[in-house]
Amino acid sequence: MQNKNFIQRSLKSVWHPCSQMKHYEQNNLIPIKRAKGVWLYDFDGNKYLDATSSWWVNLFGHNQPLIKAKIKKQIDLLEHSMIAGLTHEPVIELSEQLAKLTKLGHCFYGSDGANAIEIAIKMSTHFWRQNKQQRKNKLVYLRKSYHGETLGALAVTSIPIFKESYKDLLKNHIQINSPDWRDRSAEETKEEFAEKKLDELRSLLKKRHNSISAIIVEPLVQCAGGMAMHSKNYLIGLAKMCQEFDVHLIADEIAVGFGRTGSMFAFQQAKIIPDFLCLSKGLTGGYLPLSVVLTTKTIYQAFYHNDTRQGFLHSHSYTGNPLACAAALATLSIFKNKKIIQSNRQKTKMINALLTDLKTLPIHNLRNLGMIWAFEIDKKINPEKILKYCHQHGLLIRPIGLTFYLMPPYCIKESEAKFMLDVLTRGIRNAS
Ligand SMILES: *Cc1c(COP(=O)(O)O)cnc(C)c1O
Repeated sequence: MQNKNFIQRSLKSVWHPCSQMKHYEQNNLIPIKRAKGVWLYDFDGNKYLDATSSWWVNLFGHNQPLIKAKIKKQIDLLEHSMIAGLTHEPVIELSEQLAKLTKLGHCFYGSDGANAIEIAIKMSTHFWRQNKQQRKNKLVYLRKSYHGETLGALAVTSIPIFKESYKDLLKNHIQINSPDWRDRSAEETKEEFAEKKLDELRSLLKKRHNSISAIIVEPLVQCAGGMAMHSKNYLIGLAKMCQEFDVHLIADEIAVGFGRTGSMFAFQQAKIIPDFLCLSKGLTGGYLPLSVVLTTKTIYQAFYHNDTRQGFLHSHSYTGNPLACAAALATLSIFKNKKIIQSNRQKTKMINALLTDLKTLPIHNLRNLGMIWAFEIDKKINPEKILKYCHQHGLLIRPIGLTFYLMPPYCIKESEAKFMLDVLTRGIRNAS
């Protein structure tokens, strides 16, 4: 029984994120020794299916041979050098490939998702300052949004449990209603509901666009806010309105990027181009922390100047780390060589065909987009009880309140998908 020892040591020395440490006294911390494919293994020989892709970062499963090989190769060549005053091949190659994929460019790197949001916010407001419009310094963000938890990013995150304790530290931005189609009335279509939310936004922009720098959205799915989905028409309308009122559009694809919603990037389904695109999580296939912000020529040009102080002087120590860039390049090559977007379409169909039993349970709003499945359990059911059952039976999930979701690694096989849904179904039945 080695697990116990590791749990005790961890609880004495590690302050775990997004956790009430006291709750771990009930022994619900799982020490992980190794991993392969969709499976994580503990020290006592139990295995767990990683149905959240380890907080949505692990795209192709654990111990992915190609990513591993690329990192190993890079580590013998150059593990790190800064990219202020220097440059290296992995960061150049990655920037070129991302530009080609997104039709944006001028890749600016950070080390995690929240970093990318800070960068986009600073670039946007700094851009208006460069253009003598200092008053344009407010951000518009959506209810149910999540953009990270550093102070700038938290200020545009709406989730009260993360925000409440720090509100005195945060700048006041403008929160608008979410286009989440679950909030529509019975007689409204998803598209009509999106249209209504756009109308609300239009009245706001008419009045206040002179003080608004950018609107930040998670295209198609607000993930941490409860896997809230909206019509792509919302994005189409949003992009038009941003143009009309001279407001930037920041697309936070940290969670939805890299195939999660069925296309390489979610904004592509609406055929729009945002002013800023923030990427992280899946970027390195779950191997190393890295984030990037891509933007337009117009924005880049506004900082191009003889005066140093007119430049974008933001930096992080590990910016553009070569090992992380190598992992990201391996990720992109897997998308291409294994035709992941196409093969995911088959996986989506395969998993959708396995939902019959789940649909008989007391759940609501069962929804799917690409490789995301979500639903709400009935209020009468205790989510903790389901969670405990699943963990005891080898399925790792992490519900958000009453919202249960599955975001498995793309390598998931039919037998594994069956196991995943079977344990979840039994867990809900057991708790009902
Ligand atoms: C996870 C997430 C972030 C923050 O990324 P971190 O790497 O955790 O800082 C920002 N935006 C979205 C949409 C996310 O899902």
